[in-house]
Amino acid sequence: MKKSLLPHYNSILGGKDTAYYHMCRKLPANFDSMATTDELWDIHNDIAKKFRSSKQHGLDDGIQSIETSYLDLKIEISRRILEECEFCENNCKVNRKMGERGFCGMSEVSRVSSAFLHYGEEPPLVPSGTIFFSGCSFGCVFCQNYDISTVGKEISAKEGGTAVDGKQLAVFANVLAHQGAKNINYVGGDPTPNIHTIIESMKYQTQNITQLWNSNFYNTNKALTLLIDIMDFWLPDFKFGNSDCGEKYSKISDYWGIITRNLKFVYDWGSRDIVIRHLVMPGHLDCCTKPILEWVANEIPGTVVNIMGQYHPDYKVDSKMYSEINRRVNRLEMIEAFSLAEKLKIPYKIVS
Ligand code: SF4
Repeated sequence: MKKSLLPHYNSILGGKDTAYYHMCRKLPANFDSMATTDELWDIHNDIAKKFRSSKQHGLDDGIQSIETSYLDLKIEISRRILEECEFCENNCKVNRKMGERGFCGMSEVSRVSSAFLHYGEEPPLVPSGTIFFSGCSFGCVFCQNYDISTVGKEISAKEGGTAVDGKQLAVFANVLAHQGAKNINYVGGDPTPNIHTIIESMKYQTQNITQLWNSNFYNTNKALTLLIDIMDFWLPDFKFGNSDCGEKYSKISDYWGIITRNLKFVYDWGSRDIVIRHLVMPGHLDCCTKPILEWVANEIPGTVVNIMGQYHPDYKVDSKMYSEINRRVNRLEMIEAFSLAEKLKIPYKIVS
């Protein structure tokens, strides 16, 4: 892997850079817990500007002794979002603190299905300290992890893994770091319903280690604004090249508009530590693979794409339901996908 492709990640690994969450912990944020949420956002957005300028100047040693930090402020805002949940664009507005559940089926309790050193991720990432959360904000009919993604929906939440708070999640992360993980990889299901727990865990994590967001990327702008200054690495899925396929196969709306908006947000913020995962679907080259690769080449040039050929029919897909995707992707389809990436000069070989 060329170092210039994932600069911040490689610098952390080389001991030359600091994971962003450490910097957020050192940046003072004076706020009153009685303030309105709008007031907290105003303070947050002011500090975000300061954070960006200090980051550009490489100032990772802030004030050592502070009462409340930028990270504390993010924790407080994330807890408030739980009362009218809008972590993802399903925008359920349910009060998860009161036990209400939205599309993902999760209450405020985060559940970890498993956490281990994962050697099956992209080569630059392994061993990856992967934490699988139960539950998901999508409803993919072909889900290959439905035993954990349907927790809270088809499987009782209580049977869906170990309940954790921020402190307990930090223990998982610290142990993985000590075992030699190159990064802490938040995945699922999807990590989005657990943003409050993940941010809180950073108060208790101890290692200078990359924080990696491995998600369907259906986050709201508010959720992404909370995450942008604390995540070092982005590993988003980009499944569908239009919203109709998103609606049909993942049961969510405006897929294309939301995913392209979020990818632009991270890219324009300045991150070059992004690897997009595109799962090629059978018969979906023209409607999905091509528009996705063309959009990446034009709008976020230089971004690495993992073009994945491991789709197989699963979960609700069979000869009667969704029969048009009831087969594996064939060799010709993969060759066509790789050829287009080649033509568009998309870096893919290093991860695909
Ligand atoms: S995380 Fe998304 S799906 Fe779950 S309750 Fe919140 S807005 Fe709804």
